[in-house]
Order: sequence, then structure tokens, then C-alpha cells
Amino acid sequence: QSITTDMATLTKEVQKFAKDKKLEIETLKIREEYRREFLGNVSHELKTPLFTVQGYLLTLLDGAMDDKNIRKKYLQRAEKGVERLIYIVKDLDMITKLETGDINLELSEFDIVEVVQNVFDLLEMRASKKNITLTFDVKYKQKVLVFADHEKIQQVVTNLVMNSIKYGKENGTTEVSIEDLVNNKVIVRITDNGEGIEKKHISRLFERFYRVDKSGARSEGGSGLGLAIVKHIVEGHDEKIYIESEYGVGSEFSFTLEKIK
Ligand code: ADP
Repeated sequence: QSITTDMATLTKEVQKFAKDKKLEIETLKIREEYRREFLGNVSHELKTPLFTVQGYLLTLLDGAMDDKNIRKKYLQRAEKGVERLIYIVKDLDMITKLETGDINLELSEFDIVEVVQNVFDLLEMRASKKNITLTFDVKYKQKVLVFADHEKIQQVVTNLVMNSIKYGKENGTTEVSIEDLVNNKVIVRITDNGEGIEKKHISRLFERFYRVDKSGARSEGGSGLGLAIVKHIVEGHDEKIYIESEYGVGSEFSFTLEKIK
């Protein structure tokens, strides 16, 4: 009797061990797949600007250097390519830290109105190149104090306003508004009247490296990580991010924050 019981227990333990191992292997396989996909995406993103920079440098070495005007123009373009590489590497660093949970939120009290104004100051030049007007509608003129990670929320606002400029129409408008919600929350909205996004893309927009325009050839191209970073930061605060968009009409991205009374 007791031998049978022991055998049954042993069999169960062996089965459980095998099941655990199988799960472990599955998890490792998924991680490996994820790592491979990530590395594939990274090298793909780096390739375009690297080849651009190489192209200009080779042309200069091939003789274009002798012409003073061309030399300056090509060096400026090569520098732009390097600048783009730096942006991509910075975004990669940020998304890796956010995804591995290697980043702590540094929470403090700050004025979100001031953050929006800072972002406008930073991006005004960029907007003016497309003659896009940045407007700020705040129901209250005074400060709106929130409790969050100042630097990261500034990055969220920067990425969203930057996108509204990149995908905005010439002579368009980007409007930021801040509004009270119930339960001590505020909602920050970034609205543009740009190209808008087709419904079929919306659910995937926050994925790393997802782009509506796959060609990557567009001059506006970023790292494809902007919205993934935004989502991580907002959800890391236990807050919500929303998107509403109509193709050909415009888009509105919004997120909530905890308000200080
Ligand atoms: P990137 O701008 O570097 O391509 P993002 O993650 O910031 O990467 O955005 C992903 C994609 O979402 C963009 O390539 C673009 O197709 C689309 N998108 C983002 N913001 C807007 C916007 N305001 N209007 C239209 N399309 C947008």
C-alpha cells in the first residue's frame, strides 16, 4: 500500500518538475525571441542615418570637398544625420530602462502649466518652419500643481507636441489644454489638425518601432519609440493615456495626472 502511495507521489513530483521546466524553457524562448526582434529593429533604425552620414562623407572625400559651398552643405547634412543617431540612441536607452523597470520615478510637486510653456519655447522654432501655431488654452491663468516625475512628464509633453508638429499640416495648429477631472485629477490634451491616423493603426501605435508610414524615408522620421516611451511613463505613474484621431482631420492625445489641491 505504502509503496504504491510513494510511487504515486513520486510520479506527481516528476510530472510537476517536468511541467515547471517546460514553462521555464517557454519563457526563455519568448525572451530570446523578444531580444532578437529588438536587436533587429535597432540595427534597422540605425542603418538609415549611418548610411546617410557615410554617403555625404564619401562624396566629400571623392572631391566634393574642393567646392567651398558644397563642402559646407554636405557637412551640415552629415551633422544632421549624427544628430538623428544621437536622438535614436537616447530613445533606445530610455525605452530599455523603462521596459526593464530599471528606472525609478522621482515624484515631486510642480506646475504643469510651466512645463507646457517650456516645451513650447523649445519647439517654437521647429513649429515655425511649418508655420504651425502653438496655442495653450488653460482655463485658469494661475499654476496647476501636479504630483509626478517632472523630467519624465516634460518628456511626455515634448514627444506629443513634437509629433503634432511632425505630422501636422503646414499652417496648422497645435493646441494644448489642461482641464480638471473629478477625483483630484487633471487631463492634459494635445490636439492637432494634422494628417490624422487611420483606425486600423490606432491599436498598435504605442508599440515600439511601429510607424504608419513604414518607408522610414520621410524627413520627419524619429526613432519610432516616442509613443512607446510616452505610454510607459504615463502608465508607470498609474495614469491613463488616450488617443482620438480622424484620418485627414487631426489627432488628440491626452493623459491624466494627479493634481495637488
Ligand atoms: P516616430 O514619430 O519616431 O515615428 P512615434 O512612436 O512618436 O514614432 O509615433 C509612431 C507613429 O504614430 C508615427 O510614425 C506616426 O505615423 C504616428 N503618429 C504619432 N503622432 C501622430 C500625430 N499627432 N498625427 C498623426 N500621426 C501620428
